[in-house]
Amino acid sequence: MPIETIAAPRPLPTAAEPDRPVWQSMMRGAALRCPACGYGRMFRAYLKVADECTACGEELHHHRADDAPPYFTITIIGHILLPLIWWSSTTIAAPPLWFWSFWVVAIIASCLVTLPVIKGALVGLQWSRRMHGFSGLPDSEHRM
Ligand SMILES: [Zn+2]
Repeated sequence: MPIETIAAPRPLPTAAEPDRPVWQSMMRGAALRCPACGYGRMFRAYLKVADECTACGEELHHHRADDAPPYFTITIIGHILLPLIWWSSTTIAAPPLWFWSFWVVAIIASCLVTLPVIKGALVGLQWSRRMHGFSGLPDSEHRM
């Protein structure tokens, strides 16, 4: 591999870069708010991240959440609802159509509610760790 194709390591954070607390950023994102200020909306539509915060102007378009939000949503909802479905199927004597109608609606509604929360938390995580373009460097100069 030619040496020119190896990306240079990201420079270490300097004192000029303020700390970005991970937990606070993720909680603000999970609340669908800007991870920088906590006031502006993170999303301009259901799962469309706003290009920038309406309150502080922080650029949010650098995120690369990709498939992680649905992956975590399916994992979390599955681990919560599947035991409940199993438990209810062994203890409640409901007609199968009613039983499955309820659970299909519950699964879909749970996923639709959880998905933006998890995506917001992941964008907050990426912002706090200065991943992708969140450090101010162009996306082409990042390794992550
Ligand atoms: Zn903001």
